[in-house]
This record gives sequence, C-alpha cells and structure tokens, in this order.
Amino acid sequence: MAVLEKDDADLVGISRHDLREATGLNATPVASRVTRWDDGLPQYPVGHHARVARVRAHVAALPGLAVCGAAYDGVGIPACIASANAAVDQLAGDLTGVEQLTRHPVQSLHGGGGE
Ligand SMILES: Cc1cc2nc3c(=O)[nH]c(=O)nc-3n(C[C@H](O)[C@H](O)[C@H](O)COP(=O)(O)OP(=O)(O)OC[C@H]3O[C@@H](n4cnc5c(N)ncnc54)[C@H](O)[C@@H]3O)c2cc1C
Repeated sequence: MAVLEKDDADLVGISRHDLREATGLNATPVASRVTRWDDGLPQYPVGHHARVARVRAHVAALPGLAVCGAAYDGVGIPACIASANAAVDQLAGDLTGVEQLTRHPVQSLHGGGGE
C-alpha cells in the first residue's frame, strides 16, 4: 500500500512518529489536518535532460520567451529559483517579443494565424 493510501489517522500517526524521532516532541496535537499531494512533484522519466534540451532549443527561437521551474532543472525551491534566474539572464533585457507574446500568444507561438 502506498503511503498516501493510508487513512488520515494512520498518516497523522506516522507524522507524529517522525516528528518524535527527529525532535523528541511527543505532545498530542490539539488539531490535525491531512492533505494528500498526489503528483505534487514532477517525476522526471529517463531522457528528461534530452527532452528539456529540445524544449529549450525550440523556446530559444521565440523572442521574449524562456522557461523555468520544477518541470525542468530540479524540483527543489533553490533549483526553481536558479532556473528562474537563468531564464531572466537568457532574456537579457530583451523584451521585444514579450508584448507580442502577451497580446497574441497563440499566434506568436505558432508563427501564424493560431489554431
Ligand atoms: C507538498 C510540497 C512540499 C514541498 N516542500 C518543499 C521543500 O520543503 N523544499 C523545497 O525546496 N521544495 C519543496 N517542494 C517543491 C517546490 O515547492 C516546488 O517544486 C516549486 O515550488 C515549484 O515551483 P514552480 O514555480 O515550478 O511551480 P509552482 O510553484 O507550482 O508555480 C506554478 C504556478 O503556475 C500557476 N499556473 C499553473 N497553470 C497555469 C495556467 N494555465 N495559467 C496560469 N497560471 C498557471 C499555478 O497556479 C502556480 O502559481 C514541495 C512541493 C510540494 C508539492
């Protein structure tokens, strides 16, 4: 059984156990709420780096557009911030395509009359 398939009480118990192991805290919570984050993080398949390289090669041909975030270079917040910084650097202050992209996104991305 996957851990997220356990019922709420079991998950609270597991969390309390982990907290106790990590910190020694053994107090009984006055309230608890369980949120299941199914598919909360991207799962990179084999070939991810090559796919990202292909995406970036296509995106590089579109002025004013760069991609970043957990789907690309790592799911941790530091990795997301680093990819955001890299995306901004890539744009290098060139905002010539941004207005076109925001005004006519579909036409801009498909280079024609849209879909
Ligand atoms: C439960 C959980 C706990 C985590 N804990 C940690 C942690 O402790 N430390 C750590 O480093 N990382 C943690 N992470 C990972 C990290 O938080 C994420 O990988 C990171 O926040 C992803 O950033 P992002 O900008 O790529 O995507 P998001 O933060 O998901 O931002 C995407 C944004 O795009 C918006 N959006 C989506 N679709 C559209 C659309 N069609 N139009 C307009 N807007 C849209 C969304 O509303 C959202 O605001 C955790 C993730 C989860 C799920």
